[in-house]
Amino acid sequence: MTSRTGILLLVSGPSGSGKTTLCRRLADEQEAHYSISCTTRPPREGEVDGKDYHFLSKDDFKSRIDGGEFLEHAEVHQNYYGTLKSEVLNHLAAGTDVVMDIDVQGADQVRSCPDTQIKMALIDLFVMPPSEEELLARLTGRGTDAEEIIALRMENALEEMRHWPEYSYRLISATREEDYLNFKSLILAERLRVSRLL
Ligand code: 5GP
Repeated sequence: MTSRTGILLLVSGPSGSGKTTLCRRLADEQEAHYSISCTTRPPREGEVDGKDYHFLSKDDFKSRIDGGEFLEHAEVHQNYYGTLKSEVLNHLAAGTDVVMDIDVQGADQVRSCPDTQIKMALIDLFVMPPSEEELLARLTGRGTDAEEIIALRMENALEEMRHWPEYSYRLISATREEDYLNFKSLILAERLRVSRLL
């Protein structure tokens, strides 16, 4: 038996594409560690600090940037978001797969990261909603955000969707079950890749 190194499954897609649900389910089924991001945005109703995000003040976030604690960070929807190195590197080294839900700017930074462990581990997927109408319905249906926030997210979503050709894989969202089947198939196949077994 050979052991294998961990996979870093990077997932992007506009808010409302369903990507967070996919990532969370993979972690709930203990197929991967979910990288809990830091953010300066306030928690939504029901969100728990340390589970959904590490909710930080802007000052705390900035001092962690200065301390070199982030693998990547970006400004999204007028707030800071970032991935702590501690959420990713040790898990990969221990052979645990890690799933991360980050925006297109963060994805760019991870792709250009010179760390060979990250380069070897990385696969990137873009999740798209089936149509603009469905995306708007999903963003509105969440019921947690004010109208102007939804408008901003819709505008950002359309801009973000132009980036899908930069990814190795793309998933167009259909039903939750179909999406999850495709998503899980991706990581199952990657686990068989010879370069991870050597
Ligand atoms: P939300 O506020 O809806 O939870 O997330 C807004 C956006 O921020 C989503 O596109 C999500 O993928 C992105 N995001 C969440 N965590 C991170 C992170 O750690 N880094 C980056 N670059 N983007 C993130």
